[in-house]
Amino acid sequence: MRRLLTNCSVVPCDGRPAIEDAAILIDDERIEAVDRQSTLAPLIREAGADLNVHDLGGRWVMPGLMDMHVHLSLALPGPSSLAAKLETDMALTIRAYRNALDALNAGVTFLRMVGDARNVDLELKRAINAGQIAGPRLFCAGQAVIVTGGHGFDSIGTVEADGPEGFRSAVRAQLRAGADVIKLCITGGIAGEFEQIRDSQATYAEMEAACDAAHNAGRRITAHAGSARAISEGIKAGLDCIEHGYFLDEPTVERMVAGGVYLVPTLSVSRAEDYMRRIGCPQWMIDKSLRAGEDHMRSYQMATQAGAKIAMGTDMLPADPYDGTLAVYREIEWMVEGGMRPTDALQAATLSAAELCEVDDRLGSVVPGKLADLIAMPARS
Ligand SMILES: [Zn+2]
Repeated sequence: MRRLLTNCSVVPCDGRPAIEDAAILIDDERIEAVDRQSTLAPLIREAGADLNVHDLGGRWVMPGLMDMHVHLSLALPGPSSLAAKLETDMALTIRAYRNALDALNAGVTFLRMVGDARNVDLELKRAINAGQIAGPRLFCAGQAVIVTGGHGFDSIGTVEADGPEGFRSAVRAQLRAGADVIKLCITGGIAGEFEQIRDSQATYAEMEAACDAAHNAGRRITAHAGSARAISEGIKAGLDCIEHGYFLDEPTVERMVAGGVYLVPTLSVSRAEDYMRRIGCPQWMIDKSLRAGEDHMRSYQMATQAGAKIAMGTDMLPADPYDGTLAVYREIEWMVEGGMRPTDALQAATLSAAELCEVDDRLGSVVPGKLADLIAMPARS
């Protein structure tokens, strides 16, 4: 079936400026043409009566948002993590699915899962891909691999391993379960009471073995990482992406740029005091989070100015209320407040994210040939 979207403006998210008075011709599930409506007129005339026409009433169209750092079974320290520990498999599945559906309804059509409990992300992906249930596209890491007692050991969604062979085998277990990407935690973080964000946890040999196992299977590998020292080592060991990057320095940023390593900054996690209070996070966690805020933002700015590859990730549930809006929109706003041009921030939430997940041949921008994975928003009045 061919469809025509008319009376809209399009943000292609591939570096080109917005197209006003636009139309998009869609053949089955792919974009056939996108341009000014007047330019497409001959094509539209030719298609004639077969065309299913949708008048978008002046809305703005862009690719579906892609959130690169999500835990569908997220349970931060406090009441939600206590409840999650007692949860049955069924309750966990329903909760995670509800979170996925809320994200989809907020315009987030693709979620990169970076550590979930009991493979719930992988099971949901299978059900969604099989058409059993509606949902966003999921790109899953399964459980995050950490050292014994490392970041997230007391949360759900991690698996402990030690030594290069331990790491290699833990990575292989995620691959066996169907992981699309591998996630490590190589330093401490905000949500760990008895660790510092800067603490090194995984050794060089552990990271190298994990990277080797992931790359041998053709998967990319990313790491939760705070300190410049651990990030530099991790990049040398083969990491393709860094999550958070709280405390970067210039040599480390240079290494990221030279190696084409992505940064998923998750700026929200160090500046969401009201959000953390609302969900009942303990005071130590709120203090630790806010203390990291300034360095975190400076690190992000250093990376963007040096030309590092940046992809948007919330590390919250994308549709969670936050600062009078939703977490995913607020994260994009933080990226702009940190100095990124709005069109670049939108690209970080679409095309750059698609590149990070190596799905940019079919997703991430509004161009002919790609999937018509699109969202439409009313113009601001
Ligand atoms: Zn996270």
